[in-house]
Amino acid sequence: SPEFEDLVAIVTGGASGIGAAVARELTDRGARVAALDLEPGGAPQGVLGIKADVSEDDSVRAAVQEVADAYGRIDVLVNNAGIGAQGTVEDNPDDQWHRVFDVNVMGAVRVTRAALPYLRRSPAAAIVNVASVAATTGIPQRALYSTTKGAVQSLSMAMAADHLREGIRVNCVNPGTADTPWVQRLLDSAPDPAAERAALDARQPHGRLVSAEEVALAVVYLAGPSSGSTAGTALAVDGGMATL
Ligand code: NAD
Repeated sequence: SPEFEDLVAIVTGGASGIGAAVARELTDRGARVAALDLEPGGAPQGVLGIKADVSEDDSVRAAVQEVADAYGRIDVLVNNAGIGAQGTVEDNPDDQWHRVFDVNVMGAVRVTRAALPYLRRSPAAAIVNVASVAATTGIPQRALYSTTKGAVQSLSMAMAADHLREGIRVNCVNPGTADTPWVQRLLDSAPDPAAERAALDARQPHGRLVSAEEVALAVVYLAGPSSGSTAGTALAVDGGMATL
């Protein structure tokens, strides 16, 4: 029988890019999936799109309740919603630090808090947080973003320790530069998007961007029974970037 048959998954940011790929892969493996997203209209076919803002606690609580009401259970949580920021420590004012931290870090904290009572009742509970190669690698012009992703990785380890004995496994995935609408938006803002794309491919250790599906398969592995003995780990899907 399918790996995720009878299970219910929440994917934040599940209406675009990596989150949408995760939602598709989980659906293909038998899960019922809810995508919590600012713009849920982009949720893949067969996925329940729910409008939610992970930076608002009331919005998160209502959305998680909606999933529980619709499906009666929550087994898998993928904290994927995130936003970017560019610049050094001198470039981002305090309110921007707070804003990006509020989405990337506190977003995962809020959704986890709301989902934990349901996850505790699941025989197959798993949380996967999407951090980034930026969590473990010094990348120019990414001070704020990298700090939030480092925090997401640390949070994953701490949560793994706290919830292991409750039967909830927590891990994170650290993607390299991945081919998603997010990255496409950055390319489109360049004078010559095709040339920029070729340059970006060439900067990756394996000569190309990571695909959203490659990241999604790592998330699905950590969310499912094949990784039953794995907790507190960060799985890089970055072509080896973090080792350079
Ligand atoms: P994306 O912009 O294509 O998709 C992100 C989704 O999150 C969007 O649907 C957006 O509406 C949603 N979202 C944003 N803020 C939200 C909020 N406050 N509440 C609810 N939903 C919100 O981005 P992506 O490239 O698929 O990135 C997904 C995750 O992967 C992010 O956490 C990002 O930091 C991480 N990541 C991406 C890359 C990359 O190169 N694309 C690399 C490493 C890590």
